[in-house]
Amino acid sequence: MKILVINCGSSSLKYQLLNMESETLMASGLVERIGIDGSVITHKTEAGEKIVKEVAMADHKEALNQVLAALTDENTGAVKALSEISAVGHRVVHAGEKYSASVLIDDDVIAALEECVPLAPLHNPPNLIGIRAMIELLPGTPNVAVFDTAFHQTMPKEAFIYALPYEYYEKHGIRRYGFHGTSHRYVSERAAAMLGKDIKDLKIISCHLGNGASLAAIDGGKCVDTSMGFTPLEGLVMGTRCGIIDPAIVTFLMENEGLTAKEVDNVMNKQSGVLGVSGVSSDFRDIDRAAAVGNERAQLALDVFRRRVKKYIAAYTAVMGGVDAILFTAGLGENSITDRAEIVKGLEFMGVKMDDAKNDVRGKEVIVSADDSKVKLLVIPTNEELMIAKDTLEILQ
Ligand code: ADP
Repeated sequence: MKILVINCGSSSLKYQLLNMESETLMASGLVERIGIDGSVITHKTEAGEKIVKEVAMADHKEALNQVLAALTDENTGAVKALSEISAVGHRVVHAGEKYSASVLIDDDVIAALEECVPLAPLHNPPNLIGIRAMIELLPGTPNVAVFDTAFHQTMPKEAFIYALPYEYYEKHGIRRYGFHGTSHRYVSERAAAMLGKDIKDLKIISCHLGNGASLAAIDGGKCVDTSMGFTPLEGLVMGTRCGIIDPAIVTFLMENEGLTAKEVDNVMNKQSGVLGVSGVSSDFRDIDRAAAVGNERAQLALDVFRRRVKKYIAAYTAVMGGVDAILFTAGLGENSITDRAEIVKGLEFMGVKMDDAKNDVRGKEVIVSADDSKVKLLVIPTNEELMIAKDTLEILQ
């Protein structure tokens, strides 16, 4: 069984073709600059060969057409015919309160996702375009939607209601939704397997630390709290996003800097985070380098970031009445030895003990806590695409 996974952004799209018998990658790629000059598709074969092709792609349908052409290319393709693709799994950012699991896409699902557009105006429209294009290009092939928000739908009401007038929840759906759900679900399932335990018996804190970053408290396999909120802006300090701030700062900036609502939104989403504090970069590797040669604001950005993660870990331990395992994933979580060490430093009081030699690892599934650590620390590379393909397969069957 071969499953194509599609992740459509506003001007780019990522894809992977997976062989589900072996759960291995048959091909992958990235299309960039869709609808703008210099559209380009970078296709990677199973053997790792990269084929870069510049070709005009006015919209996502043309881009997906190029993807299908690359997958069936005589010399470098992964399949002989498109009929070999059993189904398509789509990453969809926001399903509101409508779906708590992945679904087979039909007209009702498309209508429900349209309704969620105001909740994710940047993400849901390209996701929908991708879905419609695949339905047209591969008629008869089932399409499945896998939602970033779905895993968090098990949160209790006290975790997702904001202390605003209740009618805003009823009228606009203003509540915590949470994101990165597919990643949190994948790494928590992997953690249970690595620890040889039933996930039902585990209290897990999953730290997805990438450019966008969020934590999830997962009790018995179910999400009970998460740091992203109504939008992916809340919570941790991120590459360019501020995470939690005093909400009064928004109106203060509007009044004292003369910023419009849109401009403040832009400041909080694109000019803040470790970029805003350091003034150096949104990329943690650049900040690490700057801090290493004595840039104090770069060091400050790292300190603010790490302290915030630590606070959430302690808070989620309290929410669950304990923690058995803390997981690190995504770009920074998988690769930054120092950040992992600094984040858990000081948590020894709750039974956390890192083994520095084991922690000297990047991008591999490893338990990095000391053997006598009450709380297990794990590094687990995320694989949202595999999770999407697995869900798609399960729905097909
Ligand atoms: P996203 O998918 O949200 O764009 P990623 O999960 O790819 O983000 O994570 C990107 C972040 O991970 C970048 O800030 C990058 O600097 C950081 N990162 C990657 N490798 C390392 C490393 N070796 N040390 C520190 N940070 C790293």
